[in-house]
Amino acid sequence: MYDVLKVRRDFPILEREVNGRPLVYLDNAATSQKPLQVIRTLSRYYERHNANIHRGVHRLAEEATGLYEEARGKVARFIGAPDPRGLVFTRGTTESINLVAHAWGRKNLREGDEVVLTEAEHHSNLVPWQLAARDTGARLRFIPVLDDGTLDMEAAEHLIGPRTRLVGCVHASNVLGTVNPVERLAELAHEAGALMLVDGAQSAPHLPVDVTSLGCDFFAASGHKMLGPTGVGFLWARPELLEEMEPFLGGGEMIREVRLERSTWNEIPYKFEAGTMNIAQAIGLGAAVDYLGSLGMESVREHERRLGAYAYRRLAGVEGITLYGPAENRTGVVAFNLPEVHPHDLSQLLDQEGVAIRSGHHCCQPLMRRLGVVATARASLYLYNTEEEVEALVEAIARAREFFEAPA
Ligand code: PMP
Repeated sequence: MYDVLKVRRDFPILEREVNGRPLVYLDNAATSQKPLQVIRTLSRYYERHNANIHRGVHRLAEEATGLYEEARGKVARFIGAPDPRGLVFTRGTTESINLVAHAWGRKNLREGDEVVLTEAEHHSNLVPWQLAARDTGARLRFIPVLDDGTLDMEAAEHLIGPRTRLVGCVHASNVLGTVNPVERLAELAHEAGALMLVDGAQSAPHLPVDVTSLGCDFFAASGHKMLGPTGVGFLWARPELLEEMEPFLGGGEMIREVRLERSTWNEIPYKFEAGTMNIAQAIGLGAAVDYLGSLGMESVREHERRLGAYAYRRLAGVEGITLYGPAENRTGVVAFNLPEVHPHDLSQLLDQEGVAIRSGHHCCQPLMRRLGVVATARASLYLYNTEEEVEALVEAIARAREFFEAPA
């Protein structure tokens, strides 16, 4: 049995009060809180092992290197990657996708080629491709989002074709909560001879992920959204692709031999890890995936599926509310708008009651246009949230409404 109260005890920040009320943290799609197991791993690393990795032969350097490489193995196993050489540590999803757009895109895209994305992409899976398209003459095409927040897969079948070189898709939308059929998109991409990139920023923290069964070629995620520290994330790629790709950042560590005029590259994944990496953070991410693994991602998913459905149902009962995204097959992200209330004002009023949600375009301006809004409010749940917290949200929304509807 999933014991959410036991889980909560691992997260000291959840004991905080905000404005005299217990903190109700519902901004997990922006970043998650960290369990003691991760916090302690970070402080133990700095107390006992801190050194730069790979270069040194002294004891601490060996220990730090061992812990860092162990973390790589843990993260690779967590996403079902058979070979840890395919796992590159980055600063997060944004850097991972930029890495692909530079190191793969600039080398492989030509005029007339197409990159197929969706209307629901986060800016981090859009802007890097706009830059790559500008530099190479490739064209971007977009799978439409249907009114229910799912992808128009019929359109996808027509859009993905002989000109397609890469299909990129957000696995779980940070606005709509939709879980997209990336396996099917990967099949379509491969039938067309293209590659498949999955933005896993909102899936790796919440769903069991297996890159092999997803059938993707690239998978990007951020540590800070999955209980890990900020400043670290990863790109997984099929090792053969990494071998063929050009480097992204140049500098120390990523080289084999450097001459004044030219250099040769280190083996993968080190070819893509230039300079001193976020060592402690990567080790902290290793502790985070250990923690997630100990709960079991199936159980995490089930808890969030139940709680997400509960939140969707409770919010749907709020008079006049617009909910975005599908009612079924969704994560614990619920975006909404109330008539006559700007989402920023709403989130400020909720903050006065200790309820933390987010408002804005959520780095998805094209999707906002598709939905016909400039912004939404968004509550996003995680493995430590409870039904009581959903109730606190719904009650705080009711009080905010009274405030806005009161005669001036
Ligand atoms: N993609 C999605 C779907 C996201 O939700 C986010 C973070 N909001 C990102 C990419 C970017 O992640 P990061 O800022 O950690 O690079």
